[in-house]
Amino acid sequence: TQKFKSGLSKTSTSLVGAMDTVFRRSKIDEDLYEELEEILIAADVGVNATMEIVERLRTEVKERKVKEPEALKPLLSEILLEILKGEEEEDIGMNTVDDDLSIILFVGVNGVGKTTTIGKLAHYYKEQGKKVVLAAGDTFRAGAIEQLEVWGDRVGVDVIRHQAGSDPAAVIFDGIQAARARGADILICDTAGRLQNKVNLMEELKKVHRVIGREVPGAPHETLLVLDATTGQNAMKQAQIFNEATRVTGIVLTKMDGTAKGGIALAIRRELGVPVKWVGLGEKMDDLQPFDSEQFIHALFV
Ligand code: GDP
Repeated sequence: TQKFKSGLSKTSTSLVGAMDTVFRRSKIDEDLYEELEEILIAADVGVNATMEIVERLRTEVKERKVKEPEALKPLLSEILLEILKGEEEEDIGMNTVDDDLSIILFVGVNGVGKTTTIGKLAHYYKEQGKKVVLAAGDTFRAGAIEQLEVWGDRVGVDVIRHQAGSDPAAVIFDGIQAARARGADILICDTAGRLQNKVNLMEELKKVHRVIGREVPGAPHETLLVLDATTGQNAMKQAQIFNEATRVTGIVLTKMDGTAKGGIALAIRRELGVPVKWVGLGEKMDDLQPFDSEQFIHALFV
């Protein structure tokens, strides 16, 4: 969609320009591959993903006896698409269940845009006619509960909360009971994002996970890790840490509107094997878009 494309304009502007100089070279040679590598690395595609992309491109060029740099463009977008889609069938958007309460667990470090994304996602589902309840499971960060309540008011959904400092698993337990009692379709659970005490946080997340699974078999139906696209390798590190502690089923890449380094989506997909499911393209309620690989590649190249 137009929104997706315009939100990614920083990345596409810098990539399209740089790529065009590659495709306008006079011949396919070592210099061309090197220039391409530099462009991909600069866009935060990551070293490993970049190497793989360029290797695959070399192979295709040989096999198909490609001579013209201009002909690399479709080959390259095909390769990027394959990496983004991964091995399995791509599933865009969310895992939710139709006739029972769906539970979505949010994890991620403070400041990445977790609260904002929860608000946006609540809005997204409400627009689809779903009844949404939020559980204020970040009882640690000062102001986190109130901030979630502000979003709850803005979107028009209930927020289940306890006092600051209370047990997150207890809040989420209550959230489940309340969501059931109110006939909600979707419960979105916030969690703490303090990484200063990593072990402690990971234990807390495991407990939350256990409580949810005990109350609603098969839940959480989705565990979304929120990453700030502007933080590059830092985001990759966070992803590894959270992925070890909880089974992350999808990534939300926030602040994609503020970076020319949207290539991080490829690095994440390749390194973690977890699909990017949503992208944040601004601070407002409707600035969250389902991630679509084809649209993404299209936005970057056309
Ligand atoms: P949390 O600590 O992870 O809950 O982070 P917040 O939700 O409070 O977000 C931190 C800041 O990032 C806020 O100023 C948000 O408005 C901003 N933010 C969140 N998502 C996006 C996004 O997709 N694009 C932009 N430009 N800003 C965002």
